[in-house]
Amino acid sequence: MLSSAKPDLPVPLTDLKIQYTKIFINNEWHDSASGKKFPVINPATEEKICEVEEGDKADVDKAVQAARQAFQIGSPWRTMDASERGRLLHKLADLIERDHLLLATMETTNAGKLFASTYLMEIGSSVKTLRYCAGWADKIQGRTIPSDGDFFTYTRREPVGVCGQILPWNFPLVMLVWKIGPALSCGNTVVIKPAEQTPLTALHVASLIKEAGFPPGVVNIVPGYGPTAGAAISSHMDVDKVAFTGSTEVGKLIKEAAGKSNLKRVTLELGGKSPCIVFADADLDTAVENAHVGLFFHQGQCCVAASRLFVEESIYDEFVRRSVERAKKYVLGNPLTPGVSQGPQIDKEQYHKILDLIESGKKQGAKLECGGGPWGNKGYFIQPTVFSNVTDEMRIAKEEIFGPVQQIMKFKTLDEVIKRANNTTYGLAAGIFTKDLDKAMTVSSALQAGTVWINCYGGGGNQCPFGGYKMSGNGREMGEDGLYQYTEIKTVAMKISQKNS
Ligand code: NAP
Ligand code: MG
Repeated sequence: MLSSAKPDLPVPLTDLKIQYTKIFINNEWHDSASGKKFPVINPATEEKICEVEEGDKADVDKAVQAARQAFQIGSPWRTMDASERGRLLHKLADLIERDHLLLATMETTNAGKLFASTYLMEIGSSVKTLRYCAGWADKIQGRTIPSDGDFFTYTRREPVGVCGQILPWNFPLVMLVWKIGPALSCGNTVVIKPAEQTPLTALHVASLIKEAGFPPGVVNIVPGYGPTAGAAISSHMDVDKVAFTGSTEVGKLIKEAAGKSNLKRVTLELGGKSPCIVFADADLDTAVENAHVGLFFHQGQCCVAASRLFVEESIYDEFVRRSVERAKKYVLGNPLTPGVSQGPQIDKEQYHKILDLIESGKKQGAKLECGGGPWGNKGYFIQPTVFSNVTDEMRIAKEEIFGPVQQIMKFKTLDEVIKRANNTTYGLAAGIFTKDLDKAMTVSSALQAGTVWINCYGGGGNQCPFGGYKMSGNGREMGEDGLYQYTEIKTVAMKISQKNS
């Protein structure tokens, strides 16, 4: 172990071998129908890690056919005990735990995520998600209903069918299990498209799905691009539901494709421009640290990033001073290297988009407190950046930046800050920092956001429904509510000669 490594953090694998680079259909590995492959890049070095088979419409068709076959009435999957579905999900969780170090090294190499984060948080969190969903498999129940007339009436929660699942690149493994966990727990079959940038951990998990013993066709994974493979899923006539995490722009395309094809069910987890409100009576150390991590975690590439920070006037200057001091502490570099605390952005496109937004902030009159440009001479690194004197109409206060760029705004009154916080097309998350319980409850009920954190930013977990108001999404993921989005509810009414109370 390297001397600077934390005792509970092992050294990443030094000889990472990428074993799985093909399309996974029916528990078998396939070449792409077109014969095309695409490169997978390490964002810290800009070097090619490997090439992966590029799925397109023909491959998606094959995968949907396999998923449909696995979903037929009388199939091994449809006739399996629900508790057995739970056992298979637990087995998959066991295999992910077995391959913990490999998966953490792979995720860090492919997605530019800090090794401490993938190893200590994300793999464990993925395992917990699968176990949470495993526990639900035989507890998804209908009801008996005292309906009018002489009937015996009950409801069944049935699987929706073949679910298309389109993933983002910011939490590749975590988002994979957020999709497959609930879908499989409820008895669906799935066709997954990982993000073009980050297909590797999904393909490794495909091998574990086979090893765990899921029947062929239950899980199919088609790596490829959004406008081709992704669009083939969202417009497919034989896909019953599509679940998507990514940009609002693509979310709209997916809903449109669903409407133009077979009106498949759609759940969307989209972007945000989440407000974090700090009142003058808050514990300042807690607020500065949480607001900071709430924005800078994973280089700002989080849908819930606290990217509109409203600070009450009387503590504004001190808050900015402390936030800048905190932001200057980062050590940038390869996220596999011990001691590094900030890795690269995911790709060149995101890198340029973030730099462009930083320039707009400078031009529109925000005060650049630190950072403000690229870092290093290879890899997609951006200096941790803090802007003060940000006003609501600036692009950096309105658009999702998805980078290490903090915007600090000033407010005077409670009514004002509620209005300003809600003045956005998004509504994913929000934070409130205050010691005044009444203020916390008043503001939390007034904010249009799917999740509100009080005196923290982040937290909750698999047990909690997650999703957005307004253009941050449709539907919820995880928790009991999230599971039900993978079911159709059927009412069965049987005529009987006489009912009794
Ligand atoms: P994106 O295009 O929305 O990517 C998300 C997924 O959708 C990817 O798998 C993508 O494939 C796929 N996709 C793209 N076009 C599609 C289409 N026409 N039909 C079906 N699927 C399609 O996101 P991005 O371009 O990588 O990032 C752009 C912005 O999205 C970011 O700056 C950020 O604001 C936001 N974003 C949000 C989240 C989140 O957690 N909510 C995650 C990632 C990004 P490709 O891999 O080929 O693009
Ligand atoms: Mg994209």
